[in-house]
Amino acid sequence: MHLAEARFNEKGYSTAKHVRISERDQEILVRLHFAGNQLDFSVHVVPLIDIKSLHLDELRRIAQPSYRAGQIADWLYQKRVTSFAEMTNLPHALRTKLADNLCFGKIEVVRVLGSKDTTRKFLFRLSDNNLIESVLIPASPALYGSPSDRRTICVSTQVGCAYGCKFCASGLDGWKRNLRANEIVNQIMAVEEESGERIDNIVFMGMGEPLANYDNLLRAIQIINAPWGIGIGARHITISTSGLAPQIRKLADQALQIRLAVSLHSASDEIRSRIMPVNRKYNLGALLDACRYFTSRKKQRITFEYILIAQVNDSDEQARQLAKHARAQEAKVNLIPYNRVEGLDWTQPSIDRQKKFLAILRSADVRAALRREKGDDIAAACGQLRLQTERGLAAPALESTG
Ligand code: SAH
Ligand code: SF4
Repeated sequence: MHLAEARFNEKGYSTAKHVRISERDQEILVRLHFAGNQLDFSVHVVPLIDIKSLHLDELRRIAQPSYRAGQIADWLYQKRVTSFAEMTNLPHALRTKLADNLCFGKIEVVRVLGSKDTTRKFLFRLSDNNLIESVLIPASPALYGSPSDRRTICVSTQVGCAYGCKFCASGLDGWKRNLRANEIVNQIMAVEEESGERIDNIVFMGMGEPLANYDNLLRAIQIINAPWGIGIGARHITISTSGLAPQIRKLADQALQIRLAVSLHSASDEIRSRIMPVNRKYNLGALLDACRYFTSRKKQRITFEYILIAQVNDSDEQARQLAKHARAQEAKVNLIPYNRVEGLDWTQPSIDRQKKFLAILRSADVRAALRREKGDDIAAACGQLRLQTERGLAAPALESTG
């Protein structure tokens, strides 16, 4: 516990101040009111842990007898209630205990944008007013995982991003904080509620670097994957990373068969370090070693993401080097024409250049695809919608361009 400081108006005029005393799972708000020579205060205990951040065994520790935990999970992830009061088959005393010890957060839909190909973008406001975004991509054959992929959601894991890749909107305003597990889980549930569709494929390719928020990410994935939770198979969950080599190894050592996509974006250290500062910490050698370790542990192919940026990483030589790396790892390659970001000068190569790059990979026997841009017109590249909204460039709340 730490005590915050409060200063009072020396002249003794009326003034009030909130003092926050934090414990691990609670925040105690003390409201001090100083008027004349009289000091009043009130105390509010606010639980900090959200019920949708807990695993079944953790719920069992709170809810006795233990079958109650299963009932709670059913209310949360099957019936999808939004308050403890609605859990009507629980005894009143248990509902009160839950409300006293846990919070029941919701993320608020601020804007929904839909595009012609029905990709939809959702902007959410968190309880502390930070903004995050998710994208719903309706049918994406062979995008990730099996060819029958349907209704993919692209989920954010942080507010902003600390990694500062030069082409990316998410890092432009820096990093604010990690998302908690419930905030990750809630993106999926909120998009399902808003769209009326069930999601069966998840890619962690929204705002932020998922592996820099490893513990909350894994906690969320366990809830998303569990039969008592959202119930989406691990093979339909893909984590995208800019290349945090140690965390890739850590991920390889845990049991879930999650898929991995690595944002390579260049096949040589010189260019990669220029556009992705993370490469100066974990260079291509270290990254590719970690990828090899992942592949060997999981017995599955990884995907290399490769944005095509005109005059930067789109040369024949880069394509040949990329083919070498991909063949050595038996990795698939997803080519993505660069999505313009307001305020940045990067552009995508001509269609001919894109096709030539793809042809070089294919002629080297690499499994590669050129991804059609989805939702370009609704600022679908990660972090763009939030940035536009925060900088006041976007139209007002709740609209649909569908
Ligand atoms: N931080 C993780 C995941 C989020 S970014 C990562 O970097 O992998 C998800 C993907 O979007 C990454 O491959 C990233 O390089 C790509 N991306 C970022 N900005 C983009 C843009 N303007 N156009 C196309 N892809 C972009
Ligand atoms: Fe962060 Fe990924 Fe964007 Fe790089 S590409 S700034 S790691 S979100």
